Amino acid sequence: MDHVDPRRLIPRTNDLLALPAVREARSRLSESVVRDLVRDAQEKARRGDIAPGQVEPAVLAAVAARSATTLRPVLNATGVIVHTNLGRAPLSAAAVDALVAASGYVDVELNLADGRRSRRGAGARAALLSACPAAEDALVVNNGAAALVLATTALAAGREVVVSRGELVEIGAGFRLPDLIESTGAVLHEVGTTNRTHLRDYADALGPATGCVLKVHPSNFRVEGFTSAVGLEELRSLTAADGIPLVADLGSGLLAPDPHLPHEPDAATALASGADVVIASGDKLLGGPQAGLLLGRRDIIERLSRHPLARAVRADKLSLAALEATVAGGAPPVVQALHADIGELQRRTERLAAALGVPVVAHDGRVGGGGAPGFALPGWALRLPEGLAGPLRTGDPAVLPRVHNGSCLLDLRCVPEGDDDRILEAVRRALAGLPGADAGAAG
Ligand SMILES: *Cc1c(COP(=O)(O)O)cnc(C)c1O
Repeated sequence: MDHVDPRRLIPRTNDLLALPAVREARSRLSESVVRDLVRDAQEKARRGDIAPGQVEPAVLAAVAARSATTLRPVLNATGVIVHTNLGRAPLSAAAVDALVAASGYVDVELNLADGRRSRRGAGARAALLSACPAAEDALVVNNGAAALVLATTALAAGREVVVSRGELVEIGAGFRLPDLIESTGAVLHEVGTTNRTHLRDYADALGPATGCVLKVHPSNFRVEGFTSAVGLEELRSLTAADGIPLVADLGSGLLAPDPHLPHEPDAATALASGADVVIASGDKLLGGPQAGLLLGRRDIIERLSRHPLARAVRADKLSLAALEATVAGGAPPVVQALHADIGELQRRTERLAAALGVPVVAHDGRVGGGGAPGFALPGWALRLPEGLAGPLRTGDPAVLPRVHNGSCLLDLRCVPEGDDDRILEAVRRALAGLPGADAGAAG
């Protein structure tokens, strides 16, 4: 009997690439992606994971399942509104339309009336100034960190940034504000202590070397107890006389006060209180695309926009389009989730609970991602067995629950109501696949 090495039976690359379904896929996938899928299947056969005869079906399945992007939409059932791992703010319908419209050639830097070059992103700027009249001018850059780097570089490179020790925060994933600021060539002049900083601390620090005074909103933690901080109005009384720019990094991006979040700073109030420039993110509580907003005094914004670094951190046309539509359009999903009616959430949660035969528990949502730290948003959740979390995440649609105290919790606050039935079906499928568990065991 002849012994044929089974690896010699593995179909050749060219034969696999010539399969009609694979050739068709080459119109929607790049050559390299298609070749990778083919090679992966051949590798599996070489390792003995599949038989040579399974290579062709494996390639066909892989090609059919593959799309040009690997990013997968996720239903956010965590109750955390601005979820950094899920790309922060989901865009409004108006912002999505604007984004699609801007995806081709657009007049982002052209005046169609006279055919000349125009100010980049004029529409986004106008929308911001209309929503925040306290600002004389506005500049949009790539993100909040870029806005901070641009402001400290333009105002204080080679000089000092005076900032309270209690405000030198880590903004996430190991990125620390002090490192960011010092990377610009500015020198940090820290004043006060972690829990208490007084006006005289700032007064002692100000001098000829001062480039700017920076106030940072501690957007992801709260210090409680014996604390004291200096407000913008008091700081203004110090800086104004010497013409020292007062910069306020607000983090979250509220343009005007939201009575729902009484402790969250906003641009209008900060500017009215004496900040010369405020910095905020576009994709936190503002509910728009990733962007960094600089709002404030005309001369300072002008100075920042002329700095060479401004070109390196400029916003792209898609962000500008989505940002303008977020500000000028109806309430974006972040704002809707924040203001969700608790009775409505209860009705939706109970309907799914009844259909699935699982209990409803009280559950607090969170603003998350650099906004309103520690602030609870009362609501409800479906309680499921913990083992469901994995199948829900990897199912289709992907559903991200909150795993807490041995349970898998589904909070509908950040789920569009139109997607409730998709959640229902996803849970049914996950329950059906769970070994030995039935829905009634969830309680
Ligand atoms: C989030 C945040 C930043 C960084 O903004 P990004 O848009 O994430 O770059 C800076 N400062 C504060 C206070 C923040 O909360």
